[in-house]
Amino acid sequence: MPSSLLSKAKTLEPRNPNKSTGLFGGQSSGILNWNDIAYPHWYKMYKRLVGNYWQADEVNMSADVKQFANLTQDEQDAYLKIIGLLSTLDGPQTRTALLLSLYATDPSVQSIMAVIAQQEAVHNESYSYVLSSVVSLAEQNESFEMGRRDPILLKRNDAITDHYNLFVEEPTVENILKTMVYTALLEGMFFYSGFAFFYNLARDNKMVGTSTMISYINRDELEHGRFISELFRATLAENPDENTVELTEWVYERFKQSVELEIEWSTYVLAKVEGIDLDEMAGYIKYRANKMLRMMGLDEIYPDYVDNPMKWIKAYVDNFDGTKTDFFEQKSRQYTKTSDLNGFDDL
Ligand code: ZN
Ligand code: ZN
Repeated sequence: MPSSLLSKAKTLEPRNPNKSTGLFGGQSSGILNWNDIAYPHWYKMYKRLVGNYWQADEVNMSADVKQFANLTQDEQDAYLKIIGLLSTLDGPQTRTALLLSLYATDPSVQSIMAVIAQQEAVHNESYSYVLSSVVSLAEQNESFEMGRRDPILLKRNDAITDHYNLFVEEPTVENILKTMVYTALLEGMFFYSGFAFFYNLARDNKMVGTSTMISYINRDELEHGRFISELFRATLAENPDENTVELTEWVYERFKQSVELEIEWSTYVLAKVEGIDLDEMAGYIKYRANKMLRMMGLDEIYPDYVDNPMKWIKAYVDNFDGTKTDFFEQKSRQYTKTSDLNGFDDL
């Protein structure tokens, strides 16, 4: 499917209309009136994203500092490996959001991507922040080296690495759509076995500071996953030539392969962690994959995992619903002015 290289969007072009004529490869002046955008409900998404604002050092790590040494060796190892994983996956997301924005010819998408990029930058900072609270610089660096050296992690990330770098060289609509698929996998599935590890510690009242931070990241990633799925569907609808059987098959294959790699990774990193049931974890991964496919307008591929099989995790993710009592007493809630936009129906 030869599709031509996209031009970067103009920064300011008064000859173009303010309201965009297309998400990618369209025209827009660069002047943004949120009350007259091509996809009006994206204003709500923007407001929800901005409402999630938080900073890493708002999280009090003093109890975690003391507790880390009391974790079992297996828990400590998993903690450092999972932070290594999350930092490897979150690292490129700042730039991916900016790259999508570079080619997006709709100023509302550019603004939403700017907010997402800012949040990804905070996620990265937060991994440095928690590690600096609990281990030496040498151990922090070791954790951050995981994404460059750990063979299971490298294997797991191979396809994403290749595709993200291909997109930089060949910014076509097809590659933008595929980048969104990988982004949906990251935001909606790849992070979640890592998140579950920290919530499992929190169940035991261990490392609650770290888990609080993870819950902020989790809340952001759910929104990112939701927006990227919308953007994927809208971009496909605007580019019907790209909406082929081949692309759909490619998406299903990527999801199946990614689920297998994720299960392999979670077995590798969580096998010795008490309280984690690996079968339940595999089911949770499949459930998350189904969820993302559905959001992207596709079919579920794991009919046995339409419901979340990891029941206990709901107490932690339900935490994002503004009507419930916070487990983590989330401080960042104070930033959220529009609580009616903040309910998660898709956890
Ligand atoms: Zn992130
Ligand atoms: Zn994200």
